Amino acid sequence: MKCYLHPNVDAVGVCSECGRGVCVSCATSVKGKLYCRNDFGKVRLRNELRAKADAKRPPTLTIASVLFVLYGVGELALAILLMYTGVVPSAAKGPLDFFGTGSSVGLIDSSISIAPLIAGGVLFVASAAGMLTGDWLWRRRKFGVALGSFQIVLGLIITGALYSYSHASAASDVAVGVIALNVVLAALTAAGYRSLR
Ligand SMILES: [Zn+2]
Ligand SMILES: [Zn+2]
Repeated sequence: MKCYLHPNVDAVGVCSECGRGVCVSCATSVKGKLYCRNDFGKVRLRNELRAKADAKRPPTLTIASVLFVLYGVGELALAILLMYTGVVPSAAKGPLDFFGTGSSVGLIDSSISIAPLIAGGVLFVASAAGMLTGDWLWRRRKFGVALGSFQIVLGLIITGALYSYSHASAASDVAVGVIALNVVLAALTAAGYRSLR
C-alpha cells in the first residue's frame, strides 16, 4: 500500500479517520492511532472540544455535592443534639443515669435511653460519610458513588431506627423527608455518573 498523498512512498499505516494509507511523513499519532495530514487537525479539535465538555461539571453533580454536605451537616447537628441532651454526659456520670430517662428529643423514646447514644455515634459516622461524599463528587471521583451509597443506606437505617423508636408524629415527617432526600440524591448522582472519573 502507498501513501494516498505520496503515491510513490510506501504507507506505514492507515488513517483512523479516512482509512487511507499514510506514509511516515504524513502520519501523526494521537493516543496510539494514526491520522493523515488532512484529518489530524479535525481530530485534535474534536478531542479539545470533548476535553472542554469533560471539564465542565454537570449541575446534577454540583447539587448532589452540596446536598450530601448539607445531609452530613444535618446529621452532625442531630448527633450533637442527641449527645447534648444529656445522653453522653449521663453515661459518663453513671450507669443509673445512663439507663435512666436520658433523652428529651422527641424523635427518641426516652424509655430506651441507649438508643440516642447509639444513634448519635452512628450519626457521626454518617455525617462524615455525607460530607466526604460531597467532596468526592465535587472532585468527580467515582468513589463518591460508593461512599454516597453507603451514606444513603446508613441514612435510611438511622431513619428507620429513629422512626421505630419514636412515638412522635414529627418522626414520620422526618422519615418521609429523609427518604425523599435519599431518592433525590441517588437520582442526581446517577444522572451525573457518566462524568465521574
Ligand atoms: Zn485521513
Ligand atoms: Zn505521505
